[in-house]
Amino acid sequence: MAEPVPFIARARKKLLTRPMPPEGVFDALPGFTPAPELAEWSRATFIEWGGALHNEEHEHLEAMQLGFLWASALCDMKGRRVLGTCEIVGQGERKTWAAQRHAVQIKGWFNTLPDFIITIDATAALTMNDRAFCHLIEHELYHAGQAKDDAGEPRFDKRTGAPVPALREHDFEDFIGTVVRYGAANETLAALIKAAQAGPSVDDEDLWMACGTGRCARRAA
Ligand SMILES: [Zn+2]
Repeated sequence: MAEPVPFIARARKKLLTRPMPPEGVFDALPGFTPAPELAEWSRATFIEWGGALHNEEHEHLEAMQLGFLWASALCDMKGRRVLGTCEIVGQGERKTWAAQRHAVQIKGWFNTLPDFIITIDATAALTMNDRAFCHLIEHELYHAGQAKDDAGEPRFDKRTGAPVPALREHDFEDFIGTVVRYGAANETLAALIKAAQAGPSVDDEDLWMACGTGRCARRAA
């Protein structure tokens, strides 16, 4: 008898349409436009159970608020163009005017102070294929992490019981040159190479279910 579980899980998936930057994004000043449609799609695709690209590593985000922005301006960090960022929004008391002004701006965009703000380069999103776009969004979702205690267990707010947000750093940072010279010299890099050699677990059908555009490709552009 066939194992029914994967088919049940698959049947729950619904076809979604990948949001594109709306017209007017490039006229907006100061260059940032709230993207509730992107927040909704990201949640339905990556976070909610049954989503086309559901990943249980984002489970804590079910109880957290994400604010998404389209950016028409380019972001340059240390000479490199950045296509997406994830920032944590502190929920504590704001004492300085700058901090209070910042909070007013955020509330104006989202009607609340979300736990994280994810900003996406609208110009790049226009030309990215589905695989590259999903890769970018999920990269930023991985940054939206949950704090851990000294024992490495996930932390929850003692008063509300909500998961405590924390930015999650990249698993690996090094230079290609050192890998050329010294090889996969640590366990994380070895795991990264193994993962890359195994090929992507997200297939084109998953991407079609998530994006509905058929603009998939094996390699991220
Ligand atoms: Zn990153």
